Amino acid sequence: MNSKTYDVAIVGLGAMGGAAAYHLARRGLRVVGFDRHSPPHDQGSSHGETRIIREAYAEGVAYVKIVQRAYELWAELEEESGRDLYLQTGGMMFGSAGSEVVSGAETSAETHNLAYEKLSADEIRRRYKIFTPDDDMSAISDPRAGILYPESCVQAHMELAERHGAELFLDQPALSWGSDSNSVTVTTDAGTYTAQSLILAAGAWLPQLLKGLEVPLQVERQVLLWHEPIANRELFSPEQCPIFIWDTGPGVHFYGFPDLGTGVKVARMHYGETTSPEDLRRETDSDDASPVQSFLERYMPDVPGKLLDSQVCMFTNTPDEDFLIDLHPGYQNVVIASPCSGHGFKFASAIGEILADLATVGESKLDFSMFGLDRLNIQ
Ligand SMILES: Cc1cc2nc3c(=O)[nH]c(=O)nc-3n(C[C@H](O)[C@H](O)[C@H](O)COP(=O)(O)OP(=O)(O)OC[C@H]3O[C@@H](n4cnc5c(N)ncnc54)[C@H](O)[C@@H]3O)c2cc1C
Repeated sequence: MNSKTYDVAIVGLGAMGGAAAYHLARRGLRVVGFDRHSPPHDQGSSHGETRIIREAYAEGVAYVKIVQRAYELWAELEEESGRDLYLQTGGMMFGSAGSEVVSGAETSAETHNLAYEKLSADEIRRRYKIFTPDDDMSAISDPRAGILYPESCVQAHMELAERHGAELFLDQPALSWGSDSNSVTVTTDAGTYTAQSLILAAGAWLPQLLKGLEVPLQVERQVLLWHEPIANRELFSPEQCPIFIWDTGPGVHFYGFPDLGTGVKVARMHYGETTSPEDLRRETDSDDASPVQSFLERYMPDVPGKLLDSQVCMFTNTPDEDFLIDLHPGYQNVVIASPCSGHGFKFASAIGEILADLATVGESKLDFSMFGLDRLNIQ
């Protein structure tokens, strides 16, 4: 048993756990954290060069305040770390009338009085030669949308957490944890550590750590593909090409990024098989590439040249694709965090703050009530 006691222990130091470690340590609290790997790494959910951040949030108006706080905190983190974390490119959300992506983004923009434009198919074609929408499509243009660099974001949170005094143990998986009304313990190969409260932010490994609590989380394989444009390569630079999301039919979404020198990265959202971190197929094959290829041929025909790279990553999905952030119903000093469902990264800076609040005072200024266990009928 390690004789030192901590205020908060954190299991998982990826996007969310690393952000929580930073916020807690910055407040002067004694923080201990553990990761089974050495973040940033390519084994979980936070790798692959880029993540989209956007403000006109199609998935629900309630996310807008959280992403606005996240923008503020990413800017503070850039300043404090001296790293480039965010690149503003603007964003285009495409779909037919009534599509989830277009109508959701428009509703969020209207509700929160955000700057945005709605472009017809003709206006899109005139402004961007690289996009070839169907005649009945329109797009919401979100000027604050852009790119976060996930590996640098994770690194910045961890570095600064340590600078503020957090003790972070890497390549040291938590093997088990315990809790009573006064304290929590985390056991690794190196010993047992005691703290006042615990944050479980283990990403795709979280279900294994919930001690029999049956939460309907499903891990899904997600493939990222980088293509070399076959024409007009200069039009895919981040100065000219926004991040893009296409709703090409009910539940069929593709998203991608400008060319940062490595090719245009594109993926189909929620197209992978259910898996687990142990069973994940980490190799890609032609079945992974063909839906993206067909999408590109139709809607971005200058892109589908040589396939330059591919990577595999994991989503951890809730049934309604809203996040899960709550206290463990059996242990009020244990916080459960699964802010993924394929869209959590942009919020990580703000979710770190929420997790820090939850682990210390049990509530947060930001409204995260829609992420509770109660909506999943777990009390
Ligand atoms: C391909 C892909 C594309 C995405 N695109 C976007 C996007 O464009 N925009 C966006 O906002 N979001 C996006 N997301 C979602 C976003 O990346 C995730 O929501 C986010 O990375 C989840 O962070 P996390 O901290 O929960 O998981 P992770 O960052 O994976 O961290 C979990 C950590 O827990 C550690 N761990 C596991 N078990 C243990 C243990 N027993 N002991 C100690 N440590 C342990 C792991 O090693 C890992 O480091 C995407 C996700 C994927 C996979």
